[in-house]
Amino acid sequence: MASGQFVNKLQEEVICPICLDILQKPVTIDCGHNFCLKCITQIGETSCGFFKCPLCKTSVRKNAIRFNSLLRNLVEKIQALQASEVQSKRKEATCPRHQEMFHYFCEDDGKFLCFVCRESKDHKSHNVSLIEEAAQNYQGQIQEQIQVLQQKEKETVQVKAQGVHRVDVFTDQVEHEKQRILTEFELLHQVLEEEKNFLLSRIYWLGHEGTEAGKHYVASTEPQLNDLKKLVDSLKTKQNMPPRQLLE
Ligand SMILES: [Zn+2]
Ligand SMILES: [Zn+2]
Ligand SMILES: [Zn+2]
Ligand SMILES: [Zn+2]
Repeated sequence: MASGQFVNKLQEEVICPICLDILQKPVTIDCGHNFCLKCITQIGETSCGFFKCPLCKTSVRKNAIRFNSLLRNLVEKIQALQASEVQSKRKEATCPRHQEMFHYFCEDDGKFLCFVCRESKDHKSHNVSLIEEAAQNYQGQIQEQIQVLQQKEKETVQVKAQGVHRVDVFTDQVEHEKQRILTEFELLHQVLEEEKNFLLSRIYWLGHEGTEAGKHYVASTEPQLNDLKKLVDSLKTKQNMPPRQLLE
């Protein structure tokens, strides 16, 4: 915490709840609350013996108001601290070379200047403005930068959204293509299955027909073969016959 803030916090602790100023001659009453002597005396003025604490409404004895030396010391210390704060602030705002207040800001050197500095040859040709104006300019620049950055942020968000959209579209396309391939192959598979069944049934039929035809052929050639065999046998017999018998 900066020392200034610290002093302010401390000061809050020694504020009189009646006049809302720093306690003057702080006193404590029966309930434990603290006030300026003057403030609490005014409250108790109209009553005799007892009065109500303006903070907690407790009934307290009028003659039990007592000075709080601890609090008084604290108030004095805080006031001393505040005084030194003010002094150091004044010192910060004073040119150490000329003991004059800073009123200007040199844009070239980034330095605060008193009116003597400003007229000096060091800064005479420099771009010098009043501190308030320089601060305003700076605020303006900051504002501009904020706007530029906000615009960039907006654009980045848009680009990101577009990117996300593109990825979504691509993912959809991939899924669609996958489904298309699956469907196509399922169809192909069906067609091939049908073709296979058709060819198989055809080959079964051919096989069956062939076997039947073969059987039929064998059956039909059997008597012819027998006849031929008989003929061959008789011819063989004739072959072995003596010539005479053969020519009979
Ligand atoms: Zn007071
Ligand atoms: Zn009280
Ligand atoms: Zn100066
Ligand atoms: Zn300068």
